[in-house]
Amino acid sequence: MDNDLTLAQGRGYLAIPGPSVVPDAVLQAMHRPAPNIYAGELIGMTATIVADLKRLARTRHHAAIYICNGHGAWEAALSNVAAPGDRLLVPASGRFSHGWSEMAAGLGVECEVLDFGKSAPWDMDRIARALKADSAHRFKVVLAVHVDTSSSVRNDIAGLRALLDDLGHPALLMADCIASLGCDVFEMDAWGVDVMVTASQKGLMTPPGLGIVFFNDRAAAIRSAMARVSRYWDWGPRAEPEEFYQYFGGTAPTHHLFGLRAALDMILEEGIAHVWARHERLARAIWAACERWAETGPLALNVADPAFRSHAVTALRLGAPHGTALREWVDRHLGLTLGIGLGMAPPGDPAWHGYFRLGHMGHVNGQMILGLLGGIEAGLSALDIAHGAGALEAAAAVIAGR
Ligand SMILES: *Cc1c(COP(=O)(O)O)cnc(C)c1O
Repeated sequence: MDNDLTLAQGRGYLAIPGPSVVPDAVLQAMHRPAPNIYAGELIGMTATIVADLKRLARTRHHAAIYICNGHGAWEAALSNVAAPGDRLLVPASGRFSHGWSEMAAGLGVECEVLDFGKSAPWDMDRIARALKADSAHRFKVVLAVHVDTSSSVRNDIAGLRALLDDLGHPALLMADCIASLGCDVFEMDAWGVDVMVTASQKGLMTPPGLGIVFFNDRAAAIRSAMARVSRYWDWGPRAEPEEFYQYFGGTAPTHHLFGLRAALDMILEEGIAHVWARHERLARAIWAACERWAETGPLALNVADPAFRSHAVTALRLGAPHGTALREWVDRHLGLTLGIGLGMAPPGDPAWHGYFRLGHMGHVNGQMILGLLGGIEAGLSALDIAHGAGALEAAAAVIAGR
């Protein structure tokens, strides 16, 4: 048999954890001449986008849209409530929590990071001890990454709110839902989240370029008490604009808005509860396959307890150099692009080649996930990497609802 025959022609699957697959409907909505930003369709449409984003975030409070990626949304949220000298608490289950705290440090804010490693969820007892030790209530904000995309740990945001309430600690609860919004169940108001940040290119299925910050009245009051806030990041005029263009502090991100409108139409037509259930079923199919592969050989799921696994991204360990070899094989031979490992080992360290991630967020369905898993099975086999049998049967049974 010709082992160099590549089967990569055809529509590829970019199975990295962001940017996610952009639906044709979103691409088509963006393919248009530049619209007038002072009158016409864009004006009314933007108000509907804000309303529907709030529906998806399950909040009746406020939303501000920025022209930026997730890192920009991080800085936007921080800039409205934290000033140099303020203190934050950051429970960390992966690289993204550290990244957010580094952004805060750049703003002159002090962070106490509780590091729970690269594969474990928050230890609520340790968080409780840190909050109790803060009897002067110097922690102004807790930065809570819902799904850490590097480790694929999903943390218990509602549990963190309950802890803050039990201890009577007044810190704002700020959640990063960049990887989870539109994938994992999230309830901003019911869970008592004060500020939430997200971005366009993951569960929202739109190219990178829009950052969104949701905030409630408690957070707005803290913003009002700030001595000053960077003009661009100030969420006040964006959430309550007198003129349409003030939503954006300048020219509107015209084509992204048309794309996001189409993506929100798809999500709302499917139904938010169904979108969550679809992601859960597809994630369970992936875990079922991975658990079978893991029975023999080096493959392991990064997060041991299914209760703390994301429904949008799965981080895997395969040992160096197999992780990189597998990614390269399925890309070259099958047109299937898997995500690199992030934050598990420094780039340049040979161990870096032992990790990879699967993105299964947004516009993904059963046949794509079965193709993804079949592709990995083929790659493991082609590369002679030992693996347990029955992975595809196990995944198909989950997809079939058995
Ligand atoms: C992707 C991601 C980010 C960063 O978003 P960028 O658009 O790459 O800046 C931050 N946090 C989480 C949880 C993410 O998944």
